[in-house]
Amino acid sequence: MADSTAPDPCADSGSDDCRQALAVLYSYLDGELTIERRTVIRTHLDMCLPCGHRYTFESELRQVVSTCCQEKVPDELRDRIASALRRELEGR
Ligand SMILES: [Zn+2]
Repeated sequence: MADSTAPDPCADSGSDDCRQALAVLYSYLDGELTIERRTVIRTHLDMCLPCGHRYTFESELRQVVSTCCQEKVPDELRDRIASALRRELEGR
């Protein structure tokens, strides 16, 4: 498989905390979690660089999409924005 995309930063971390944090990342972004749960995730995102990056990436992507595209975003455009953001984040 010729996959040119960068590997998931958390893919090989193997930490249960990371898996849990990423599993609820979208719920966290949507504000669907309880205060207690949010605090746990927030703490992990602050301490764990890969998960923190992942969170920053997803939240920036959401902001860009919701700001420029009020209507349904085609997958192709979302992918383009995602890869542009990913490059920017990895360049820091
Ligand atoms: Zn983590």
